[in-house]
Amino acid sequence: MLRRMQLPLALGGPASRLAVLGSGSAGNAVVVECGGRRLLVDAGFSCRQLEKRLALVGLDGSGFDGLVITHEHLDHARGAARFARRHGLTIHATAGTLEELGLADSELPTRVLHSGAVQRVGTFAVEPFAVPHDAREPVGLVIEDRGGRRVGLAADLGARSQLAWGRLRDLDALVLETNHDLEMLRSGPYPWPLKQRVAGRHGHLSNREAAEGLPELLCDRLRWIVLYHLSRTNNLPVLAAEAVLEALDREGSPARISVSEQDQPTGWLELGAAAAARADGAPSGRR
Ligand SMILES: [Zn+2]
Ligand SMILES: [Zn+2]
Repeated sequence: MLRRMQLPLALGGPASRLAVLGSGSAGNAVVVECGGRRLLVDAGFSCRQLEKRLALVGLDGSGFDGLVITHEHLDHARGAARFARRHGLTIHATAGTLEELGLADSELPTRVLHSGAVQRVGTFAVEPFAVPHDAREPVGLVIEDRGGRRVGLAADLGARSQLAWGRLRDLDALVLETNHDLEMLRSGPYPWPLKQRVAGRHGHLSNREAAEGLPELLCDRLRWIVLYHLSRTNNLPVLAAEAVLEALDREGSPARISVSEQDQPTGWLELGAAAAARADGAPSGRR
């Protein structure tokens, strides 16, 4: 298990890569990069904290094509307006999310995302899809860079919906919520109504639900599965990792996992360049 959790050697070339700046109920943010252009997905930390974490992975606020916000909850949007303003970025989110954030008529540049409609954000193509969660108009995302590398992100979803699982196909990296261990949630300190909310259809995905849904999403090109949005109260990294690795082993998948943490960024997870992936024998994507 340890071997598979280590970072791979960089393949070289104009690589695509991603890093989670931090994840959990206190804040979430992900950077996807291709050929030096970047996309920030969610900004659930203060602007200052975002900049600090970007510095930890060797970046500053430059080179971003835009900021995509999945939904209005503070752990995804806390620093969005300030970061966008400071770095001159357009915020991309659904109409419901923009409204809830008070950005629908703001002076900040925004663009409305529509579930099911692919939208270009700089060099990236972003496809949002609706997810069941207790926010106004939350979405998961598939992000494709100009090299055809595809990253899927599904967090803050109460259940594996057919729609989400239909979209999360042919990915090079999957960022997937493994929020809680059901036993830890059941016996943990949360009051009953909150336990019901977390485990409910509009709450969060458990380790087991994520692991059970994985076989459908595995494909030859899937290189990374990033375990995301772990609860500090109701989960342990080792439990989430065990559940997912068990599913991968059962399916004989060579995909590696990275467990994201609340307090520090993951290292860069290399997705390789299109040419390197073809040399690997992996499919070259849809294009
Ligand atoms: Zn969240
Ligand atoms: Zn949420």
